[in-house]
Amino acid sequence: MQMPPQVNGWFEEFYTAVEQSPAATAITDTQGVILFVNQRFLEVTGYRRDELIGRTPAVIQSGLTDPRVYESLWSTLRAGQVWQGEILNRRKDGELYWEYEIITPVRNAAGDIVSFVAVKEDITQRKQQEHELRLLATAFETGQAALVTDARQRIVRVNRAFSEITGYDAEEVVGETPRLFQSGRHDEAFYARLWQELEERGHWQGEIWNLDHQGNIFPVWESITAVTDDSGELVNYVAMFHNISERKSRELELNRQALHDHLTGTGNRRAFDHDMARCLRAAGRDGSEVSVVLFDVDHFKRVNDTHGHERGDKILRQLAQRVSAWLRASDSLYRWGGEEFCLLLPATDLEGASTLAERVRQLVAQTPLDGLAITISLGVASLRPAEGALTLMERADACLYNAKREGRNQVCRTPL
Ligand code: GH3
Ligand code: MG
Ligand code: MG
Repeated sequence: MQMPPQVNGWFEEFYTAVEQSPAATAITDTQGVILFVNQRFLEVTGYRRDELIGRTPAVIQSGLTDPRVYESLWSTLRAGQVWQGEILNRRKDGELYWEYEIITPVRNAAGDIVSFVAVKEDITQRKQQEHELRLLATAFETGQAALVTDARQRIVRVNRAFSEITGYDAEEVVGETPRLFQSGRHDEAFYARLWQELEERGHWQGEIWNLDHQGNIFPVWESITAVTDDSGELVNYVAMFHNISERKSRELELNRQALHDHLTGTGNRRAFDHDMARCLRAAGRDGSEVSVVLFDVDHFKRVNDTHGHERGDKILRQLAQRVSAWLRASDSLYRWGGEEFCLLLPATDLEGASTLAERVRQLVAQTPLDGLAITISLGVASLRPAEGALTLMERADACLYNAKREGRNQVCRTPL
């Protein structure tokens, strides 16, 4: 180690202390020419001592620091004051690093500034952390509502979207637990499953009905993550969610549209298939009876031809309404196609179905629809053992055909 000639006595110890200091240290003359750098400075910059002594710190400047930083640095130092600030420098290998520098002007006995001592701290890591925190803060403020609790489920932080969605300000919920938002729509078992999954996998996501500040219940898609520290200890829960009311009502509407006939509002063929499959499963399980009644408006072509298609539509709507209103809760009406409808009668045998069909026939025949006398013909069939929906409907259709052939406005339970 090369030491200035004047070093001796206590000054030698002082010199050694600076040389071995973990803080990178440099001394320049008043023009900024480097007179001394310590070991740490060499390690940080990657330069050899002889590459720095006699040069200025421009060697390690990155050119990326705001020029105003240097302006303030020099004006502060020239005024004889201590400057401190952050500078982005470049190592010999080209890598950039952030330094926090404290530069102190050194005066001689006469009070003149003779040199500057710069002590630097590598703050690259801190800068990176700051950057990551800024990124996280930005991510935290995206459109999703976010909520952070401690390990005891006390809310410690919420974002703006949270307040917008729930109507709660941060001050109103910090310190509370998310039980505040429980809507009562889920049973104990639901929350038990949620917590079990959180404990086992550290994550849960799904649909959940929450309660907002005004007491409205609304559905959200929520994802909850358990956050652990380095030792695996649970420290936080982070929940992100967004309101899915619109999606839910769209889903319901699409479902409704998919299963309903747009003209009459009754179930459509798809709904029939769906409900029929359920009846068949029940019949297979417990041997319960299933019957169907297929009916068709008599001479409807004439109605259209005489009164117009629109009036025909109106009559079909009224027919569906009238029959639906009259049915038992367990029975359902479907539009089979055109002016043909189908009744699905669970837990009903052939006798019961025929009686019901006859009542429907009379109901329609007795009450004019949109001022017109309308009659229907009906075919009745009951499920036979090991029979499928297709043949059951074929038999009902054959009975209906028979009813037409026999003169219309009648119920037939035997195929032609
Ligand atoms: P039948 O007694 O043999 O059933 O005679 P029909 O005239 O009712 O039977 P057909 O099959 O000859 O004609 C059915 C008519 O039903 C044809 C069509 O004009 C009418 N129709 C089918 N679907 C609709 C509909 O959605 N709206 C209206 N207005 N008419 C329909
Ligand atoms: Mg007809
Ligand atoms: Mg027809």
